[in-house]
Amino acid sequence: MKQVKVIGAGLAGCECAFQLAERGVKVKLYEMKPKVMSPAHKSENFAELVCSNTFKSESLNFASGLLKQELAKMGSLIIDCAKQTKIPAGDVLAVDRDKFSSLVTDKIKNHSNIEIIHEEVDKIDSGEVTIIATGPLTSKKLTDALKGYVGEYLYFYDALAPIVDVEKIDKSKIFVEDRYGSGESYINCSLTEEEYKIFWQELVNAERVELKDFEKNFEGCLPVEVMAKRGYDVLRFGPMKPEGFKKQKPFAVLQLRKENVKGNLYNLVGCQTNLTYKEQKRVFSLIPALKNVDFVRYGAMHRNSFINAPKLMKNTLNLKSNENIFFAGQLSGVEGYVESIASGLLCAYYVLQYLNGEKIKPLSINTALGALANYLISASETNFQPMHINWGLLAPIEAKKENRREEMAKRALNEIKEINNTWKL
Ligand SMILES: Cc1cc2nc3c(=O)[nH]c(=O)nc-3n(C[C@H](O)[C@H](O)[C@H](O)COP(=O)(O)OP(=O)(O)OC[C@H]3O[C@@H](n4cnc5c(N)ncnc54)[C@H](O)[C@@H]3O)c2cc1C
Repeated sequence: MKQVKVIGAGLAGCECAFQLAERGVKVKLYEMKPKVMSPAHKSENFAELVCSNTFKSESLNFASGLLKQELAKMGSLIIDCAKQTKIPAGDVLAVDRDKFSSLVTDKIKNHSNIEIIHEEVDKIDSGEVTIIATGPLTSKKLTDALKGYVGEYLYFYDALAPIVDVEKIDKSKIFVEDRYGSGESYINCSLTEEEYKIFWQELVNAERVELKDFEKNFEGCLPVEVMAKRGYDVLRFGPMKPEGFKKQKPFAVLQLRKENVKGNLYNLVGCQTNLTYKEQKRVFSLIPALKNVDFVRYGAMHRNSFINAPKLMKNTLNLKSNENIFFAGQLSGVEGYVESIASGLLCAYYVLQYLNGEKIKPLSINTALGALANYLISASETNFQPMHINWGLLAPIEAKKENRREEMAKRALNEIKEINNTWKL
């Protein structure tokens, strides 16, 4: 019987474990929660979404839309669970985070080929086939143990936005409409010029949590106060832009996106922040609609670690120095929820070939999945940064500019169809 160890029951680890288990591999899945919790994880469930509850657009106009379609076609557990727990958000795939994680947890816990071990892994047995999917907040003990294999980690900082309860939102200061008419799933908090000015002034002067080396190192979600410091109008041209609405034309708009099916919790879109909790309450309550609102979660900022993939990894997601050790998810150098799921699925695809003693065939860069993995090994070693999927990573195509994305998507999905001849159950 083939057997592997998967460490981390996050997005990548669950996807990888499920795909291998479905194909008859015995999986020992290690998860440190709930005994040990990272600074961002709060729930006991697997596949916890630590920040936004969205998997971006489903449209094939976007590379992320293509990646999701490829994943769906290859039978992704996580994308299937996301679709089953979807909440309205225009053409964006947004989920009820609790229902989503519960569903993934049930599927994993009830799989006869998966044994779950609630334990913080603090060493690696290089003789066993092991998939390390412990994410950007890999525990300190494992980080130290892994240094023998991967040397020093690279990192940036990432931030969470606050979530509020809808009950005390002032309904007279909002309107419900999606930008550019794609539906009615966002609550928009209007600000006049005077209100925006006060909000901006207080935001840029508010007290922040002290973070050494932060300013020069983060690349991910830019905290709203850092964005605001770049200029008076930066937010009005960014997350608070008053454009794309028919119902009102305010000076600035803060959008709130639904967090759960019940519809009582809303995320402050684009307001990832590193302000102290007290200051978050004070400053965001200056938005007129949020004057009396209850905050159910405050924003926060965390270190986001990853390995130097181009230096250390093969194009099949295992280490050059030890082929038994595979990496999946954010720790492997991809960036984002969907990308982490994708690398989990891809890792399972490669691990299966490895276990079968086959020479692993990497997916081509005509597909978004293959292009993402190719980025990991072809990017610069000296200045490696995690990457979201984007069209520039895929092989170019000869087609008229206006048809290019459509043609690339068609080519990718055709190739996935061929791969599915051997992969799909
Ligand atoms: C604060 C923050 C906010 C983010 N926000 C977003 C966002 O809004 N949108 C987005 O697309 N991406 C976001 N990301 C980036 C990234 O997409 C997510 O972190 C994603 O969850 C990564 O998936 P993963 O499977 O690699 O890791 P995770 O989903 O974090 O899963 C890793 C799992 O491993 C477990 N683990 C860790 N160490 C050990 C150990 N030693 N032993 C056993 N188990 C262990 C953890 O408890 C966790 O359950 C964010 C990252 C951070 C840090």
